[in-house]
Parts: sequence; structure tokens; C-alpha cells
Amino acid sequence: MSIHPAALEALRSRLNSATIYTPDSENYKQSLIRWSDTGMRHAGVVVQPTQAPEISVALLWAQENDIEVAVKGGGHSISGTSSSDGGLVIDLSRMNGVTVDTTRKSITAQGGATWKEVDEAGAAHGLAAVGGTVNHTGVGGLTLGGGYGWLSGQYGLTIDNLLSATVVLADGRTVTASNSENEDLFWGLRGAGYNFGVVVDFTYQAYDQKNPVFSGILGYTPDKLEGVVGALNEALAHPDSRFGAMCILTLAPDGSGPMIILIGFFNGSREEGQSKFAGFTALDPVLNTLDMIPYSVVNTLQNPQATYGDRKSFKGIFFQPPLDPLFARTIFNDFMTKIQSEPDLAASAIILEFTDMRKICEVPLASTSLASRNTTQNGIVYLRWTDPAKDLEHRAWAREAQAKWKAELDAATPDQGDKSSVPQYINYAEPGDSIVSNIYGGNIGRLREVKIKYDPNNVFHKMHPISTNA
Ligand SMILES: Cc1cc2nc3c(=O)[nH]c(=O)nc-3n(C[C@H](O)[C@H](O)[C@H](O)COP(=O)(O)OP(=O)(O)OC[C@H]3O[C@@H](n4cnc5c(N)ncnc54)[C@H](O)[C@@H]3O)c2cc1C
Repeated sequence: MSIHPAALEALRSRLNSATIYTPDSENYKQSLIRWSDTGMRHAGVVVQPTQAPEISVALLWAQENDIEVAVKGGGHSISGTSSSDGGLVIDLSRMNGVTVDTTRKSITAQGGATWKEVDEAGAAHGLAAVGGTVNHTGVGGLTLGGGYGWLSGQYGLTIDNLLSATVVLADGRTVTASNSENEDLFWGLRGAGYNFGVVVDFTYQAYDQKNPVFSGILGYTPDKLEGVVGALNEALAHPDSRFGAMCILTLAPDGSGPMIILIGFFNGSREEGQSKFAGFTALDPVLNTLDMIPYSVVNTLQNPQATYGDRKSFKGIFFQPPLDPLFARTIFNDFMTKIQSEPDLAASAIILEFTDMRKICEVPLASTSLASRNTTQNGIVYLRWTDPAKDLEHRAWAREAQAKWKAELDAATPDQGDKSSVPQYINYAEPGDSIVSNIYGGNIGRLREVKIKYDPNNVFHKMHPISTNA
């Protein structure tokens, strides 16, 4: 259903400097582009504001005209939660400014900024924030759902370093949320934050990062899988908050077949880094780019694989270390058989993160709305293809793969009682995911209260909506 021309005219007359795209505008199609083609929808109108009052106008207009609202930060939602079929998209991409306060050591990013802008602004002053590991991801979605990055072992999640946020609420008011103002909203934003308003800026604690870090890519042939998993388990068994790793099971881009990629990170000297990665380099990698590089560059290492375009599926997987090498082998073989038998899936991967969770688990569970503070590690079954006719089939296969990880996790956590009660990371769960279904855990009761207070009419309902009914 299209939006009535008179309503659009009324919107235009109330907005001065915001850019507005409707289906007949020249750059309308461009404005719909998302990281994954599966996240694109045909909006009735796209508003790109430059300041908070314009967001307020757009929100009130949508409610007066009974029009659905979507908010776009970095546009990485795969299932279309930052897009709308026929409704209003508030696209924050023109609100991407970043400022650094060197005295307070904080970084303020507007709601439409990406981590690239944050990393680069911080680096110019020898500072870094806890942000995403792929630098074109938006600060918006990543922060509102928790936020893991290479610095999480040392400093916790992105939300653990959020000092304040400015939010435009559904009733049009602009408010500050922090530990001293609207504390309940601040609590809700940190883990369920897509549900309460449009965040126009985030202020993060930053940390001295003048030194480069020891980081890079190691590549292994498939026969090294058990060795790599063993070294990863060993690293987590003797945790060092400065260490992190990502293990990627994929096909080599040169067509030579299955391979294991390890992205390594150590926030310390070359000598210490070499010693931390000795167990990995001893496995004779076929590729080794480990070196001292700037922190901001580490967050570009995955960019060549994580490009825009094509159809994509993200299925969150969660595992309790140590990861069983036998299980990893079964998963690896099944995955490689699948993506080698379907050339359109060749750019797919299973991504496993290895993070020292101690700092994250130090934060009391009740102090933020994020329910998944526990020792399980995060990963993703990531499928990428081009043929829309294969959407259902590929998603079903990814769900089956995800179910195997869930069964493995359940077996590894026998003391949890009701297995569904292990809350899992919200940012790696697509809405409607039947396997990763426990997102808010025991925080759901308080979240309902905050929702009723700040968004009683459920204007913000696209990503893991909080029902106001008990
Ligand atoms: C390539 C890639 C790499 C990733 N790497 C990491 C990682 O290292 N660590 C990690 O924790 N997660 C990571 N993720 C997951 C990521 O955190 C989520 O996909 C996140 O939602 C993306 O945010 P976005 O702003 O780019 O996306 P969008 O699609 O713009 O937004 C996602 C959701 O957040 C809402 N939203 C966004 N901005 C705002 C705002 N300012 N105010 C209100 N609502 C807003 C949107 O409405 C939407 O519902 C990654 C995802 C991808 C695709």
C-alpha cells in the first residue's frame, strides 16, 4: 500500500534540511541498499535527517498517519529490520559525525556512524573504543544489542563502555539516557536497545591505544583442523584478556578448496604476541600475515570477505569451550560438502569467535538488559548466495546446521535445567529464529516495564520486539 500523496506533502512541508526519497525519486533505489540483498524492502518514504528535531517530526507524522517505522543505522540487518515494506525508513546515514574528547577520553558517534569512523577518529588521538570487527558495520545496531570486538577481553562489551546516549522517543521528545538520567531507559538500551527510540548519538569510554597490536591472518589446510581447535581451546584455558581469535571455515578464494582461516589478535608487543601464537604458528600455516599493525587496521581484515551484495543468512551458534575437535571435524566436513556441491554458496563460511569472557561476566547480569553474559562463545553459520529461488532451501539448511550446535551446547551445559534457558547473543539472532529463541532471559519482566514507559504503542518493533503483554 502506498502512502497518500497528501500525507507525503505534509511530511515534506515539515522537514527542511532532511533528504526525502519516495519511489519516484531519482536516488530512491540507492537509498534502499543494505549490506545483504535479503535486507532490502521497498519503503514508502525514506527520510535522511541531519538533526534530532527532524527525527521527531518524522516519528510524529508516521504515527498520525498510521505508517510503520523502521530505523536504519549501518544497514547490516539481514532480515530487513532496518527496512520497511511501504512504510517510513528513518535512515541515519547522514548523521555519521564522530567527535573525540581527549580530556575525558571519550568518543561520541552519531547514530548513523560506522565503526570505521569511530576507529579512525580515535586513532588520530591514540585512542580506541570497543567496537565491531568489521569496520563498515553500524555503531547503532551493534551497540544496541551488546557489541563484541577485539578489545572485549580487556574492556568488556560495547555497552559496558557506553557512557550515555541521546534518544528521540516515539512521543517526539529528545532525552539523554545515562547512569544519572533516565536510568531505566539506559538499562534497556544496553542489550534490547532497538525497542525504545531512535538513538541520535552514543558516547563511549575510549582507551589509550597508541601502540600497534600483533595481529593478522593465518591460513591452514583442512588436515590442521584438530590442531587449530586444540590451540584455540588451550588459549582459552589459559586466558589472557589481550588475546582474541576468530576461526573461519571456508573455501579458499583462489578455488583451491576448503581451508581454515584464523584471525589472531594480541594487544601487546611483538615478542609477547609471537609467544601467544606459538601454538598456532607451529602448525605450519600456509599463510601467515601476523605482524604489528594499528588497531584500526585489524577491523579491516575481514572486509574483503564481508562485502555488500548478494543474499545472506546469519544463524547464530553458541558453544561452550573447550570445543570438541571431533564435533568440529563433523561440522567442517558437512559444511564443505554442502558449499562445494553448490557453487553459488562458495563465499559462505562458519565463523567461530574465541573471546576471554571474564571481563564481560564481571558485569552483574542485572545491570544491563543484555541477558547473554555467560561463558559460551559466539559464532555464525554464514551463507551467501545469489539465486532468490534458493532462499528457503538455504535458510533451512543453515537452520539444520545451527540445530547441531544447539544440541552440542545443550549437551555441554547439563546443569542449566531447562535448556532453552541459556540466553544467547541477540545481535547474532535473526527475528523469528526458532532455535535461538531465548533472547531476553530473566530480564523480560523489567524490559516490559521500560517498554510501556517509553514506547507504549510499540512504534519500535522490528528487531526482537518486547511484547507489552505479560
Ligand atoms: C559483516 C558483519 C560483521 C559483524 N560483526 C560484529 C562484531 O564484530 N561484533 C558484534 O557484536 N556484532 C557484529 N555483527 C552483528 C551486528 O552487531 C548486527 O548486525 C547489528 O545489528 C548491525 O547494526 P547496523 O546498524 O549496521 O544495522 P542496521 O540494519 O542499520 O540496524 C540493525 C537494527 O538496529 C536498529 N538500529 C540501528 N541503528 C539504530 C539507532 N541509531 N537507533 C535505533 N535503532 C537503531 C535498526 O532499526 C535495526 O533493527 C556483525 C554483522 C555483520 C553483518
